[in-house]
Amino acid sequence: MANDFEKHIASVKDFPNKGIIFRDITPILQDGKLFQAATHELAEYVKSKNADVIVGPEARGFIVGCPVATELGIGFVPARKPHKLPREVERASYDLEYGSNSLEIHKDAIKPGQRVVVCDDLLATAGTLRACKQLIENLGGELVGSAFYIELPDLKGKEKLPGLDVYSLVKYH
Ligand code: AMP
Repeated sequence: MANDFEKHIASVKDFPNKGIIFRDITPILQDGKLFQAATHELAEYVKSKNADVIVGPEARGFIVGCPVATELGIGFVPARKPHKLPREVERASYDLEYGSNSLEIHKDAIKPGQRVVVCDDLLATAGTLRACKQLIENLGGELVGSAFYIELPDLKGKEKLPGLDVYSLVKYH
């Protein structure tokens, strides 16, 4: 199955900037059975972590995380770019493989003591994941794991979050 996932990831050179190989997951999403299989694999992982809630960063974290949450019947919290959420927010800044940004979540989105898994399409430098961790912990939640379609281990994102479990379907070296 890992092979099928890999076959359905399009690698686009120099997008959005020169030197970046963009890993495009939309061919997985277009194949209903494969999208379901990817969702199911992530759901098994999230279940094993006994998570209460999934946090998904804008925008592909919504696509990846929402179906996992509905499969398990647990909550989903969107981590959004600034000024999109209408109520009181917690904010954290992060660096991307290309550029930088901030993420916000509603202050009442996570309850103290809740076990949280972050789901997203891809782990690169872990800037996004670290920002999510900060948001989750500022609200009293516990980040108990993270799950991705794709991991780029050479960018050493994991090393920036020692002790955090990372699960992925496909790795690119
Ligand atoms: P990072 O914060 O460096 O771990 O970057 C992860 C976030 O940036 C994810 O939300 C991805 O959607 C996006 N991203 C970073 N690098 C790539 C890439 N090479 N291909 C596709 N998306 C990427």
